[in-house]
Amino acid sequence: MNFQTAERLRLLPPYLFAEIDRMKQEVRARGVDLISFGIGDPDLPTPEGIVREAQKEAANPANHPYPSYEGMAGFREAVARFYQRRFQVRLDPATEITSLIGSKEGIAHFPLAFLNPGDAVLVPDPAYPVYNTGTLFAGGKPVFIPLKESNGFLPDLEAIPADVLKAAKILWLNYPNNPTGAVAPPDFLRKAIEFCRRHQLILAYDNAYSEMTYDGYIAPSILEFDGARDVAIEFHSFSKTYNMTGWRVGWACGNASLVAGLGRIKTNIDSGVFQAIQHAGIVALDQGDGWIRDNLKIWTRRRDVLAEGLRSLGWDITPPKGTFYFWTRAPKGHSSTETVKKLLNEQGIVTTPGAGFGANGEGYVRFTFTLREERISEAIERMRKIKW
Ligand SMILES: *Cc1c(COP(=O)(O)O)cnc(C)c1O
Repeated sequence: MNFQTAERLRLLPPYLFAEIDRMKQEVRARGVDLISFGIGDPDLPTPEGIVREAQKEAANPANHPYPSYEGMAGFREAVARFYQRRFQVRLDPATEITSLIGSKEGIAHFPLAFLNPGDAVLVPDPAYPVYNTGTLFAGGKPVFIPLKESNGFLPDLEAIPADVLKAAKILWLNYPNNPTGAVAPPDFLRKAIEFCRRHQLILAYDNAYSEMTYDGYIAPSILEFDGARDVAIEFHSFSKTYNMTGWRVGWACGNASLVAGLGRIKTNIDSGVFQAIQHAGIVALDQGDGWIRDNLKIWTRRRDVLAEGLRSLGWDITPPKGTFYFWTRAPKGHSSTETVKKLLNEQGIVTTPGAGFGANGEGYVRFTFTLREERISEAIERMRKIKW
């Protein structure tokens, strides 16, 4: 039998990476040693103290039953302590915080709690694809708002037409930004909050990269700003901060009605995060500042090696102030996909085509620096041989 899938799966955008995935296998089969700047997944291990805590707690039978849906009180209190220390934001662990099985889970499920059929969602373009797909699965209508280089990869909120705003329910924002590496000035964030209040929009803020910043830049929480708690929910993750992508743990916090709505969806879908992993998360939040600093030294060196290398090739790049992504313009006369294929075919270098993140990503290529400095340098030497 070959069953027909539901209509909603046909709503999904075409998977643009299929051909490149195929090509990757071909090149590897030729015996080429691939150097990957592809997926945003740290190659560094989770800090030992976090791993040890998980090992100890996994052995404790108290952690073996179903966890609570919203996360252990101790986990939510640790999130509150982190927000107080890091952002000077006071959160009520009882009503303003919920655990997530990775922030992707929360981002994907959130629209189910707040969208009625046909409601519009303002989705940045380019962006992390889950804002779009989560909207589609919930029966909502994504309306793409362009992020232009000329505007610092910030959306022009005042350019959104009135009829779109009338139908809109949620605005997604993510700074430090995947894929562009852009950060948002405080003034923009203040305006975004004011805009959401004025138009009765939910501000869904993805802060997965708040701790991965450079050159003295410190990223805020959206909840630091006046009035944010009236309209905003912030999605946060251990994944990039503590090299914990595989652990599947994160949280959402902010406006209590938004946290509660998401919670009601989740109680009907999942049964929380394994408590041993929550204990590991508590150790990360309470004791992780030194580990974050150590990690950042490594990310910074890699960023600088890649920046210097790309510049030596004549690429006009701006090193990101946040995230581990370079969002570079494709060489003149080449589309993002052509550039990625050429890098792969001729030199075994894996990158991500900007067009995979939305129509406005066309003309860009994303390089992720989740690989050792020697490998970055080797990739640059290989790229020197390519004629564009
Ligand atoms: C990596 C990433 C996430 C997902 O993180 P998890 O907590 O591992 O699910 C969310 N948003 C953005 C923009 C990301 O790049």
